[in-house]
Amino acid sequence: MDILIRDALVLTQNKNREIMRGDILIEDGKITKVAKSIRGGAEEKIDASGKLAFPGLINCHTHIPMSLFRGYAEGMRLQDWLEKRIWPAEAKLKPKHVRAGSMLSILEMVRSGTTCFNEMYIAHMDELCKSVVEAGMRASVGFGLFDLVRKTDAKEELKNGTSLAEKWSGKSPLLTISMAPHAPYTCSKELILLAKEYARKKNIKFHTHVSETRKEVFDSLQEKGKRPIEYLHSLGVLDDDTVLAHGSWVTKRESILVGKAGASVSHNPVANLKLATGGICPLHEYLEAGANIALGTDGTASNNSHNMVETMKFAHLMQSHLYWDPLRVSIQNVWDFATINGAKALGSNCGSIEPGKEADIVLADLHSANLAPLHDARNLFFSFHPGNISDVFVAGKPILREGKFTELDEAKIIDEAQKGAEDLVGS
Ligand SMILES: [Zn+2]
Repeated sequence: MDILIRDALVLTQNKNREIMRGDILIEDGKITKVAKSIRGGAEEKIDASGKLAFPGLINCHTHIPMSLFRGYAEGMRLQDWLEKRIWPAEAKLKPKHVRAGSMLSILEMVRSGTTCFNEMYIAHMDELCKSVVEAGMRASVGFGLFDLVRKTDAKEELKNGTSLAEKWSGKSPLLTISMAPHAPYTCSKELILLAKEYARKKNIKFHTHVSETRKEVFDSLQEKGKRPIEYLHSLGVLDDDTVLAHGSWVTKRESILVGKAGASVSHNPVANLKLATGGICPLHEYLEAGANIALGTDGTASNNSHNMVETMKFAHLMQSHLYWDPLRVSIQNVWDFATINGAKALGSNCGSIEPGKEADIVLADLHSANLAPLHDARNLFFSFHPGNISDVFVAGKPILREGKFTELDEAKIIDEAQKGAEDLVGS
């Protein structure tokens, strides 16, 4: 269906980062024209006067089934959190739980303006992929591989990732499959090398956690004589198809290695603060080195939300605090992280509102108490909340219209998530 969005304030994220008042024409799922006034007979015309249109946000690090554990393990130290609460609960996961958690996360993402995400998970991945396709979201999904935890042979473990890729690649234009070895401390060297070799052969992305905690860095220095990013560099796996989640506890030399390789870093400020990891991702150093910076929420057990606008606010505040300077990482930088840089990290043709791009677009009501008065639309992420969002389109398809889901049964998905959570951890 062709759609004409009329008279919106458009935060384009185009080359010149223009903000303009005008119309957006969507044809066959793509943005074909953005102009002051477009005449034409699109099947649906949307009056967006009084609304802000911005590119759908891109969450570059998620574990969507974990929304069933939202609020379940609070006020705990990272290791206790994992060993006493999360891992035992995850061991009980059945396909229906993965579906329930995935759908719940998708609801929340859409309601807070996210249209695309970079997922890594460890169980019942067919259910997860089915949920993504059914909901009409755009995503890159990888099977979280970890032979040192599962105590499997590297080649056997790799099959989890390659079978997912073989089964789901090409099934939907919105879904891509990545290789996702969990982290350098949970994967053998052989598995990391095999995963990267496969990713290169198939021209797909490589997604891994790295340098989230100080302990991880100390252990790596002791066991391997190298810091985690130095180690990945020595294995030759850093390149522009690599997405590193966290990358917080790093030296300047490591940020240069990431930049030289053209790799992407998904900075997850809220999850880092919540798990009290201490290190703050040095975005200015990464940017100076030429790294591609994106943003993520991480799983909702360690956040507790998928709200990317909130993540944008935390990212800017944390960097201002780190450098004693709100300009080192600018407000415009943060928009770039959450849109075009995320698209670059995932190799997706989205992240801006300009002709030729996928029509992943969000509309928000500017006539809201928390957004008025309007000085500069770029500043809105400081005061925004998901209730401001009225419409969300993915590949031109309306997922949310006038605050209501077009196809997803929101109440049923929430009920199923509640049931699923009680099933797993009792209530
Ligand atoms: Zn994670």
